[in-house]
Amino acid sequence: MRPVRLPRCMPKRIRIAMRCSLLLLVALVAATANAEPAPSSATEAPIRPVAISQALDRLASGRADSATLVGPTGDLELHVRAGDEHLIAQLTPELTDDVVAAARRGDVPFTVERTRIDTTAGLGGPIEQPFSLSEWMQTWGPMILLAALVIVSAWALKAMGGARFKSRLKPVKSVTRFADVAGIDEIRDDVAEIADVLSNPAPYERLGAQLPKGVILHGPPGTGKTLLARAVAGEAGVPFFSVSGSEFVEVYAGLGSRRIRALFAAARKAAPAVVYIDEIDAVGGRRTGHAANGEREQTLDQLLTEMDGFRNDPSRPVVVLASTNRLEELDPALVRSGRFDRKIAVGLPDRAARREILDVHLRGRPVAVGADPVEVAAMTAGLAGADLAALCNEAAFEAAREGRDDIDLAHFRRALMRLAAGPERRSRVMSEEERRLVAYHEMGHALVGHMAPTCDPVERVTVIPQGQALGVTISLPTEDRFLATRTECMERMTMMLAGRAAEELVFGEFTSGAADDLNRASALARRMAGELAMAMGSTDESLMVGLPARSGERAAEEVERAAQDLVRRAFRDATRLLTEHRHLLEAGAHRLLEAEALEREELGELFGPRPGMERLAPLGA
Ligand code: ADP
Ligand code: MG
Ligand code: ZN
Repeated sequence: MRPVRLPRCMPKRIRIAMRCSLLLLVALVAATANAEPAPSSATEAPIRPVAISQALDRLASGRADSATLVGPTGDLELHVRAGDEHLIAQLTPELTDDVVAAARRGDVPFTVERTRIDTTAGLGGPIEQPFSLSEWMQTWGPMILLAALVIVSAWALKAMGGARFKSRLKPVKSVTRFADVAGIDEIRDDVAEIADVLSNPAPYERLGAQLPKGVILHGPPGTGKTLLARAVAGEAGVPFFSVSGSEFVEVYAGLGSRRIRALFAAARKAAPAVVYIDEIDAVGGRRTGHAANGEREQTLDQLLTEMDGFRNDPSRPVVVLASTNRLEELDPALVRSGRFDRKIAVGLPDRAARREILDVHLRGRPVAVGADPVEVAAMTAGLAGADLAALCNEAAFEAAREGRDDIDLAHFRRALMRLAAGPERRSRVMSEEERRLVAYHEMGHALVGHMAPTCDPVERVTVIPQGQALGVTISLPTEDRFLATRTECMERMTMMLAGRAAEELVFGEFTSGAADDLNRASALARRMAGELAMAMGSTDESLMVGLPARSGERAAEEVERAAQDLVRRAFRDATRLLTEHRHLLEAGAHRLLEAEALEREELGELFGPRPGMERLAPLGA
């Protein structure tokens, strides 16, 4: 089994910053909560200024606990404390004798304090309190914390983007080899050549053969473009810089173009090297001149400047590989000669290529003798390399769940279902009534799929909730098809609508469960009526409706009407097929309710042989 790859951890700096912000937040809350009840220091009585005569009276009559004379020279203060009273009186040095006498008379403990040097303080007012950190904190603390919080979180945010990007400027050593990329025979030479020039430029240099600066890998997602770029760097043994186009599209103005500059500077320094820009459409989309896109376009301009600016020193080449799913959306300036002028199409793998990709991902996984990758390849038409990688992993899980120690075909099948529709959720309870409806609905799909000759064979039908659906019918192709005939499109649509047709036929009622079927069917119908010019009627007529180049409201209306027509026709066909084979529909639904799930073999037994048909036979032959 392969090790499970864990997501990369957040950079340490960011984690620290986040923790800081959290702490600050807690402190802030605590401080504000504390600040509410004023600092009523219960032991400190409020100071009350009184006349010296009054203070002396208190002392002489003994109505005081203590007396303190504060001040070495000049202005003096007399502090008299009695219970929770604190009196203060100003006096002159001549009066000190009187104070002493009064204290003696009243028998009040008397002290002299010589601490106050500042003679102006206290004049006419209460004595200044000594500096208290806690009080100071209560006044200013919340504000300081708030400011710190703002600064730290701004820093953390920046660090998050910045740290991640900085790490991009450090090239990695790619360990991927061409052997890890399967099914690329058609483009192998192109990419191998790039790797060759990078690792051994001398012979090319002698002949004056310049390496292209930029190469665009384009094709559907998951077809191995990133993998291929890694493999080029890995085979050539040169540093690999990998960034994503979206990393240049930032909120901070000017950051994107600065990053581009930094990236190219780093690559030049490390040359020979490979720079890989994933999803370049994020920056390389068509320029519009709109202010809203200003930032992105500034970044794109910088990229163009860098591409133009760097003269490849033939002995130390830098190649920029970029990938996109949408080649046609790139700015024309980007694909002009001298920039990304070489394009390599990375398409969906055909059956042979899928087989090779499966082999790569089954390396080191125990596969049962009966599970032939050829068969798995056959039932995975339309899947990309990434899907196949996921399928192998999921199949391994299926085997592990069963406690088996090798993977067989059934595990692949189940994994495929799971990937197609999400995990089955047997725990979700349906009422008996709804289960019955779902069973007829799904059996409707399955029966029509079986009876319509061009439909892919039905692999599995369930009344087990899965993903959003309450039941699932899955058919898998047996061969790769690159063209769809009109009959195929129609029959596919008929099968899509057969669930609802069964509901109506059996219950005389519709449910909301068919919403997804209807959406898919009408999308297909619109495509048929519009761009494919497959509307019903004479050939002339369908052309009239469909011509893709036509636009405008009238044309759109016509297409819509023709699409509606196609949907109606398909629904009628579905109802006709189900009526014709009503007994099979009934039998199938009952079996399905008992078994919850029926596989291809059981369906074959139940429905009998499928009608055969030659798909593209010449007329009159
Ligand atoms: P893309 O960049 O085209 O979206 P990736 O290169 O990221 O696709 O592919 C994702 C994963 O799918 C790869 O890491 C690899 O495991 C698998 N994969 C895709 N294509 C292939 C292939 N041709 N051969 C082997 N594995 C592949
Ligand atoms: Mg990718
Ligand atoms: Zn359905």
